[in-house]
Amino acid sequence: MSTLTEQEKQRYDRQILLWGIEAQEKLKKAKIGIIGTGGLGSPILTYLAVAGVGKIIAADKDRVELSNLNRQILHWNKDVGKEKAVSAEEKLKQINPEVEIISYATEVTEQNIEQIFPEVDVLVDGLDNYPSRFLMNEYAWKKGLPFFHGAIWGLEGRVTTFIPGKTSCLRCLYSEAPPKAVFPVAGVTPGLIAMLQTTEVLKYLTGSGELLLDQLLIYDGELMEFRKIKLTKNPDCPVCNR
Ligand SMILES: [Zn+2]
Repeated sequence: MSTLTEQEKQRYDRQILLWGIEAQEKLKKAKIGIIGTGGLGSPILTYLAVAGVGKIIAADKDRVELSNLNRQILHWNKDVGKEKAVSAEEKLKQINPEVEIISYATEVTEQNIEQIFPEVDVLVDGLDNYPSRFLMNEYAWKKGLPFFHGAIWGLEGRVTTFIPGKTSCLRCLYSEAPPKAVFPVAGVTPGLIAMLQTTEVLKYLTGSGELLLDQLLIYDGELMEFRKIKLTKNPDCPVCNR
């Protein structure tokens, strides 16, 4: 007996044609944890919701500002001033009411990360800063959870998939956080990078395709080039070498 309702079978018909009904049942069971509902987070959340993942836990401490609206597509003009987590939850529930959405309008810290993401299957990076990414990376390693990283700047972006026990980690790639600053970005860049991350998440959850393991995919929108560089473990990494 399938765990999918007749309505869900219709809703996800095109995906079931691609991956089969068992894969869709796996997506329905999946629990996703994400920090950031902005430039990367908005499209990631939208496409995970329409794909029919079972449960999404999303955290974001910020409120919507006018300068967010060129890229943070879950937040609209009427939402300026509203907590982003609340704004994202409202939209996602309308996009797909079959998906359970839990949002936290709070900063994720070392102290509360375990309470916010107690039982997730994967962690997704919708962030704009490295201290928070390092926190997610450490939590991923502590819990043995895959961590889907994406980052953007201007018309450039980077994507990779980290799996504890299998690959290097974010701290092997960057030993220190670059200084935090307001950076330029065209809305299309996080849109594109978010889709690459989400494709990785969906492949992981459905058990299909090849993942970007120990490879950093670098996108250069100016030249319209994609290239991959090989990642290796840092033998002195304080996170994945413990
Ligand atoms: Zn490492």
